[in-house]
Amino acid sequence: MRPTDGSTQDPMPAAHTGGHLAAVTGLAFDLDGTVYLGERLLPGSLDLLDALASAGLPFLFATNNSSKSAEEYLERLRAMGLPAERERLLTSNDVAIARLRELGLQRPYLVATPTVVATYRSHGFAPVEDDADAPDCVLLTFDTTLTYAKLRRASDLVRAGLPYLATHPDTVCPTPEGPIPDCGAFIALLAEATGARPEVLGKPQPSMAVAIEARLGLPADRIAFVGDRLYTDVRMAVEHGFVAVLTLTGEAQRGDLPTSPHQPDVIVASLAELHALLRGHGTLP
Ligand SMILES: [Mg+2]
Repeated sequence: MRPTDGSTQDPMPAAHTGGHLAAVTGLAFDLDGTVYLGERLLPGSLDLLDALASAGLPFLFATNNSSKSAEEYLERLRAMGLPAERERLLTSNDVAIARLRELGLQRPYLVATPTVVATYRSHGFAPVEDDADAPDCVLLTFDTTLTYAKLRRASDLVRAGLPYLATHPDTVCPTPEGPIPDCGAFIALLAEATGARPEVLGKPQPSMAVAIEARLGLPADRIAFVGDRLYTDVRMAVEHGFVAVLTLTGEAQRGDLPTSPHQPDVIVASLAELHALLRGHGTLP
């Protein structure tokens, strides 16, 4: 358990006072369920992000969602009035691109949307789409254009023993209408069909945490990671030594905390409350 940094007589646990935020000089935010839900901005997110940008505090958005290209994401963020620049966006596709390069893999069989396939091509990869071409690995993403033909080809290639990766483990993606099947559900389907499981990237894996640290240029204990999921956002933050901030605007609710193995350092009702806490610490004017 982390020590509280207030007076030992303070009866309020640090998770309620936000004491861990005192050392924070940079922030990373999950998007879905944290900054917005569907097309709706969540309370306080615009004000907080504007304040961070005005104060010159480094921050970025880190999302597991690999169904959209970075450009599509930036357009969406800008349409909602959010400060959006390429260097402030980290997706699980960015992490996968770095990992494929590390492994020397160039011709992925991509289970991905057309814009995401184009992203990999623009980064110098030769995604395999034609049956005649031989891929050197299989990469699962959150493919909202998934077809049976793609599943079958991926299954054949995984059974043939090709290196097998997936951008993130989330089984569902939140939408205003409720959760929809995500990359983790495709992983489970292929595990049933082939017996094989991929190397999984994205939150809560260290590869995403390392990418966040490198992009912000700060040591882990200076970074607050803000998210709405205990088993991805909070887990990654705690395991990597970030200050773990849980916002109750998305998936996790207060009632989930007693049974969770992953405990946040700070709990806020929304980003409006986080904004107030950062003001209280003098991090923001
Ligand atoms: Mg989320």
